[in-house]
Amino acid sequence: MRGRIVAGNWKMNKTFEEAEDLLYEIAESLTEEDLEKATVVICPPSPYLEMAHDVAKENGFYTGAQNMSNKESGAFTGEISAAMISSVGAAFVIVGHSERRAYFGETDELLCEKVEIALKNNLVPVFCCGERLEERNAGAHFAVVKKQVQTALFNLGDEDFSKVVIAYEPVWAIGTGVNATPEQAQEMHNFIRNLVAEKFGKKMAEEKIILYGGSCNATNASALFAQPDVDGGLIGGASLKASEFLGIIRGFDK
Ligand code: PEP
Repeated sequence: MRGRIVAGNWKMNKTFEEAEDLLYEIAESLTEEDLEKATVVICPPSPYLEMAHDVAKENGFYTGAQNMSNKESGAFTGEISAAMISSVGAAFVIVGHSERRAYFGETDELLCEKVEIALKNNLVPVFCCGERLEERNAGAHFAVVKKQVQTALFNLGDEDFSKVVIAYEPVWAIGTGVNATPEQAQEMHNFIRNLVAEKFGKKMAEEKIILYGGSCNATNASALFAQPDVDGGLIGGASLKASEFLGIIRGFDK
């Protein structure tokens, strides 16, 4: 069976103390059974990564950064490198979140560089793709996602590509309370898996972890996760409350 992941993206929320409290609340609630259902990842704000890793490593979960530089090191004031993220114990990094694309002008060409640097530094890139509402309404959603995935990821060799996690996050579903229906998610995940199969072969496609993100919560997670091509979730708002986040993990049947 391919891997399953539930990752919480805390975005720019929580003070250090609040973050520590939430991490311990999650750690105390997580059972062995939860950890068998999915790999659990928390992506806190970067200043808390080291503290979060200390809690995570004792409690069977992982940490990730929400973003990283496309440069290795040097005079890039304010940026955070893949090596820095890796050096504080993080195993994952979110690349190309729609908020980065919309507010910071990140393009798929830039994301292609970030993915490569993440992999070079032993970080698993969680590459986000997804269409805007007007693109879906115009029937362009498949073409948009295809271009994002192909431009940012299809230059990778087999070994590197095998390590990448893809997150389908329709922009219209992020933070809106309107999730993609399980059928819409399945349709797009299956489309992405087929793209992977065409480029990298059937085995790679079957093993590729594809997460859903966009207003996923403890109520709708089980229907989304029951879809054959949905391998877990990238969770924003609902990852800020331990009970809700745990409820999402428990959305997997077994
Ligand atoms: C996200 O930001 O990746 C996300 C999925 O947000 P939300 O769950 O709040 O829609």
